[in-house]
Amino acid sequence: MKKNEFRFADELGPLKIIHVYEPSINLKAILVVDNVAMGPSIGGLRMAPDVSTEECFRLARAMTLKNAAANLKHGGGKSVLFGDPGMDKSGKENLIRCLAKALRGEEEYIFGPDMGTNEECMAWVRDEIGRSVGLPREVGGIPLDEIGATGWGVSHAVEVASEFCGFKMEGARFVVQGFGAVGKHSARFLSDMGAVMVAASDSKATVYDPDGLNVNKLIEHKNSGQSLSEYNKGKVLKRDEVIGIECEIWIPAARPDVITEKNVDQMKTKLVAAGANIPATPGAEKILFEKGIINIPDFIANAGGVICAAMEYQGATESSVFESIKDKIRRNTKQVLEDSANKNILPRQAAVELATKRVKKAMEFRRFSIFSSAPKFV
Ligand code: NAD
Repeated sequence: MKKNEFRFADELGPLKIIHVYEPSINLKAILVVDNVAMGPSIGGLRMAPDVSTEECFRLARAMTLKNAAANLKHGGGKSVLFGDPGMDKSGKENLIRCLAKALRGEEEYIFGPDMGTNEECMAWVRDEIGRSVGLPREVGGIPLDEIGATGWGVSHAVEVASEFCGFKMEGARFVVQGFGAVGKHSARFLSDMGAVMVAASDSKATVYDPDGLNVNKLIEHKNSGQSLSEYNKGKVLKRDEVIGIECEIWIPAARPDVITEKNVDQMKTKLVAAGANIPATPGAEKILFEKGIINIPDFIANAGGVICAAMEYQGATESSVFESIKDKIRRNTKQVLEDSANKNILPRQAAVELATKRVKKAMEFRRFSIFSSAPKFV
C-alpha cells in the first residue's frame, strides 16, 4: 500500500471515500463520508468541472465541524459531481438521478444542495432514494435561500460579536461582498437591527455610499437581473475596491480566499463575519487576529443553512427554524469569542477545538467510533 493512500486520514475520519463511475453517461463523482459519530452525515452535492477528491474531503470535514458546532445529530459528508452545472437540464437530471441510485445503499449520507445544484436537484434525489434535504416547498422542504436562513444566522453572529468589538448595532456601518442569497439576506437582517449598509459588491462592481444605501432597493435591483454596476445611486467602484471601505462590519458572501496576505492590510473594519466558506486564507486570518479585528469563522457564522436543512429532515416548521438558528449561532459565537479572548488563540482555532471536542465525545459512545449505528456482535 502506498503511503499517501491514506493522506487525508486522521483521528476523525474519513470513514469512506467512494468513487462513482458510469462511462455510458459520463458520470464521474466522489462521495466522502467523513465522520458519523453524531449521526448520519449531511452535506451538499457540488457540481463543477474541476472538483477533486481532496476538495471533497476538505468540504466533508468542514461539514463534520459545522454540524458538530451547531449540535446537530448529524456527521459530515460531501459529494462532488464532475461536469458543467449549466449543462442541458435533461442531461443534468440523468446524471444526478444515476448518482443518487449508485449511492442508494450509503445510508449514512444525506444529500443537500451546494454550488451547481439546487432544490430541484434535491427533489430528483428524493424521488430516487428518499434521502435529501433542501427540497422545494411543494415536497415538504423549507427553501433556505428564499427565507434567508444563512443570512439570519450571520446577522445574529454579528450582533453578538458587536459587544466584543465595542460598537452598537444602531448606526454601525456594514459592507457586503457578494450580493447573492447569503449577502442580500444578511444585509436585510442587519439593516433591521439598525445597521447601515455603506457598500455592496457583486462579480462586476462595488456600489458605495457613505451615507447609506437602501437595502430593499438594491435587492430589487439585483432581483431584476441587473448588475450592481448599473445601479444609479451612490458611487460605482471597481469590484475589488470593496475590501478597503471603512466600516464596522465586513461580510464576505461570495468566493473562497478573497482576503489574503496581499490585501488584508487594506481592510478598515472592526469585524469580519464569514457568510462565505473559507473567505480568508490562514495567513490573512492570523494577520486579522494580530490587528485586533475579530473574525467569526465560517462554520460558526454561516451554519444557518445546514441547521435549517437538518430541521427540515426532522419535519420542523419554518418558524421554529428561525428560533433555533438564532439560539445556536448566538451561543456558539459567544463561546468561540470568549475562548479566543481567554486563551489568546484565533477564533477559528477556538471553534475547531469546540467542534472537535463534541465529535470526540460522541465517538467515545460508539463501539466502533466511526459508525453512527455501531455493528452489533453477540
Ligand atoms: P450566490 O450565487 O447566490 O451569490 C454569490 C454572489 O457573489 C453573486 O451575487 C455573485 O455575483 C457574487 N460574486 C461572485 N464572485 C464575486 C467576487 N469576486 N466579488 C464580489 N462578488 C462576487 O451564492 P450564495 O448562496 O449567496 O453563497 C455565497 C457563499 O456563501 C458561497 O461561498 C457559499 O458556499 C457560502 N454559503 C452559502 C450558504 C447558503 O445558505 N446559500 C450557506 C453557507 C455558506
